Amino acid sequence: MLAVNSIQVYYHDVVQALRGLSLEVPKGKIVALLGSNGAGKSTALKAISGLLPLEYGAITEGDVKFEGASITTVSPHTLVRRGMSHVREGRRIFADLTVEENLIAATHALDGRSGKADYDMVFSMFPRLQERQRQVAGYLSGGEQQMLAVGRALIGKPSVILMDEPSLGLAPLVAQEIFQVVKRINEEQGATILLVEQNAALAFSVADFAYIMESGRVMTEGEVAKLRNDKDVREFYLGMGGDTRKSFRDVKHYKRRKRWLS
Ligand code: ATP
Repeated sequence: MLAVNSIQVYYHDVVQALRGLSLEVPKGKIVALLGSNGAGKSTALKAISGLLPLEYGAITEGDVKFEGASITTVSPHTLVRRGMSHVREGRRIFADLTVEENLIAATHALDGRSGKADYDMVFSMFPRLQERQRQVAGYLSGGEQQMLAVGRALIGKPSVILMDEPSLGLAPLVAQEIFQVVKRINEEQGATILLVEQNAALAFSVADFAYIMESGRVMTEGEVAKLRNDKDVREFYLGMGGDTRKSFRDVKHYKRRKRWLS
């Protein structure tokens, strides 16, 4: 459904964020994109959904395909109408509007191709949003705001959803609740999902396949069932299997050392 082929991305013509990134997201699957801070995960999502120009970023080489067609020069609003939805990092809801108004606002990008059935579906996924539908969104808890950000992305039943760190800053139980919905969206609506996540264990609990990025490119990839048993991944990304717990920072040093030694 999505294919990213060897893309190079620069911000402001000088900061190189992606260095030949390639990945594939098959229809109906949940694919996780993991990696340390600054690895280029958010940039990869923005390169797919056409949002790079908003931040003076551009794809200078390579190509992104959506359902077989190149979308490198397609505008973000056209992609939304073609069924792509992007939950950006940091929620970005309309804080002064109510929950209901935030959902209505999402329908405007879709030529009216949505309505009450969509709101009902969002409320069935997140009953807490239904209880608070007339409340101003800025006064919701962090978890509820993230539910609203995810719920808003479901309006219009997108075929592919890009999600940028849905668990960021949330209590573990709330993060789990959101991930259960991610799984439901995939299973019940057949939505394909590309999920950026710092919490590898959480991502592995729902994903079929994962890519691990570092410095703008993919370092490791594989079926989640296989990666879960990979010694390096267990030790460095899941914090299991080693004598001491290591941080993402250590992973970078380790990988660099490995490259020098090989
Ligand atoms: P995090 O997990 O911290 O969000 P990330 O893996 O999503 O990190 P990106 O945000 O994609 O990483 O950043 C990749 C690189 O691009 C970093 O070096 C970052 O400083 C740079 N970068 C990101 N956004 C911009 C921007 N708008 N302008 C200039 N440089 C940027």
